[in-house]
Amino acid sequence: MPKTDSKLDDIEKTVESKSADLKNSIELINLSNIVEKMVEINAILRIEKIFEQKIVGKNPVVNVIVNDGTAKGLLSLWTEEIKFLEGIFEGDAILIENANAPKKFKDRIHLSLSKNGKVSKIESNLPKLEEMLENSNTKRSDFSRKLISELKEGIGAEIRGLIVSIHSKNPYFPVCGICNKKMTLKKGYAICGCGNKVDEEDDNLKWLFLCNCTVDDGTKTIRATLNNNTKCIDFKKIKKMIIDDEDIILELNRQLLGLDINISGITFYDEYLKDISFRSNFWNKTDPNTEFELLNLN
Ligand SMILES: [Zn+2]
Repeated sequence: MPKTDSKLDDIEKTVESKSADLKNSIELINLSNIVEKMVEINAILRIEKIFEQKIVGKNPVVNVIVNDGTAKGLLSLWTEEIKFLEGIFEGDAILIENANAPKKFKDRIHLSLSKNGKVSKIESNLPKLEEMLENSNTKRSDFSRKLISELKEGIGAEIRGLIVSIHSKNPYFPVCGICNKKMTLKKGYAICGCGNKVDEEDDNLKWLFLCNCTVDDGTKTIRATLNNNTKCIDFKKIKKMIIDDEDIILELNRQLLGLDINISGITFYDEYLKDISFRSNFWNKTDPNTEFELLNLN
């Protein structure tokens, strides 16, 4: 037994000294500083999540979410490279050497290894994974005013801007009381795929407003989904128009286009748009008095 222990000590010492020497021997980079098409990347990261192995074009691949507290990345390990993950678990710190960044979508950096690239487990003074995730939760619940150009994935924010276009064709719709899905309106009834059928004028029928639009604050534009939590829209009127078969898109364009609004919500990465989008918790017409107070604060 003592023999095994001393061997373990040796291994630990090697790892420790390796970690201490690293900064001198190779050039490390933070995930947030990696730009698209960068090569020869060396970085110390924590493993946030290891996905199940998949087969892509006949080759096995394991995707790994990595995080160093400055950003998140997606590391793809192919075929022979998968064995680097042996003995490495979620929460462990790793050193990646000679990686490439073929793509970068906003905050999400995609990493792969070059021919002589490698991944090894390492001791690191990076914050523990729980702390990193805790930090990002704190960012998620901070709804302070931000410029659209400053927004990153997975944070809370309040933005102010003008609605420059409306994309939803059917932004106000009834929701099934049984399965919570969007219902279709047909000849006086709201009908759900689950078989639920309710009179469209039924007071118990729940309606939801989810309107996708583009908001511009002068620094950048963003796709934002506006919800029911607003004083800007007279939903009774909109509902009546829908029931009367009138064009609500025309009406919403008339009411909302060019409107100066404040939206409080959360950013998320939209896989379809390949960009950051914004989901509102609540939104309202910008109040000049509040804006004046904000100016005085800054
Ligand atoms: Zn249903």
